[in-house]
Amino acid sequence: MEQRIKGTTGLLALIGSPVGHSGSPDMYNFCFRYHNLDYSYMAFDIKEDQVPAALDAMRLFKMRGCNVTMPCKTAAAQNMDELSPAARIIGAVNTIVNENGKLIGHMTDGIGFVENLRDHGVDVKGKKLVILGAGGAATAIQVQCALDGATSISIFNPDDPFLDRAKGTAAKLKNEVPDCNVQVFCLDDPGKLKEEIEKADILVNGTLVGMKPHEDRSPITDKSVFRSDLIVCDVVYNPEETKLLREAKEAGCAKTIGGKGMLLWQGVAAYKLYTGLDMPVEEYKKYQA
Ligand code: NAD
Repeated sequence: MEQRIKGTTGLLALIGSPVGHSGSPDMYNFCFRYHNLDYSYMAFDIKEDQVPAALDAMRLFKMRGCNVTMPCKTAAAQNMDELSPAARIIGAVNTIVNENGKLIGHMTDGIGFVENLRDHGVDVKGKKLVILGAGGAATAIQVQCALDGATSISIFNPDDPFLDRAKGTAAKLKNEVPDCNVQVFCLDDPGKLKEEIEKADILVNGTLVGMKPHEDRSPITDKSVFRSDLIVCDVVYNPEETKLLREAKEAGCAKTIGGKGMLLWQGVAAYKLYTGLDMPVEEYKKYQA
């Protein structure tokens, strides 16, 4: 690693807090080495109120880019020179590219979801989706699916503070993507949920239900909603196969798709934005093994 660092080496980083556990430095430095790119990648612990200073430093150090994690995603979006369409609608960024001093903010979580589906042979264009949740992951998916041509999205969330966020997303999408019919329902109405899933092509769990240490939970308790041609997806990646996906598969759903691929593909999208290159995913997996 030290042999690679020269006077010309450009810097990229992850900003957020905490970041000490992050696998991003290992992954990006492997990829830069693999592609013989004169970049190095670090992780900096940045609190929300430090975001403007961190972005000034990004400009000053002419950093090529930053990945942004919690709790900095919204503050970063508020301090960009330009935003991608998805980042603008969502009001949050997870990837910043420095184009000659101009900071452009992107949100690649939704792209990761759409690409992961494509990798499993599913195109969201023309599809009807039911998406459970209205937090960070679910909102990114809702916005990207609408931008990528989904015809209808029914959002279900419990009656908690995220329900208002769902209504806000629906209102924005009504203006920005009028061809996509977005409706919001309360998750406490099982009859409505069943009715909407019956009409849907794709069911997505965008909530944290089923994530460790609560892997014995599923957001769907009425298993009669599962049918063979319903595609069932989960954003949760720990465990890799959630209770929702296991029960959907057991009930005969032909396609069940976990959150691990979304995580991978959102990173692939960020790498492409920074370098213009395809991330050497298979090579990195071999290096890790
Ligand atoms: P968040 O805190 O922003 O949102 C949580 C959502 O879960 C809200 O909509 C909330 O209303 C809902 N919720 C909470 N308790 C619930 C319950 N008991 N029943 C139904 N809904 C409930 O969280 P987030 O950042 O969006 O993360 C959600 C999940 O997505 C986590 O498991 C996270 O690890 C995963 N995630 C995956 C990826 C990926 O690339 N696969 C990316 C981001 C997040």
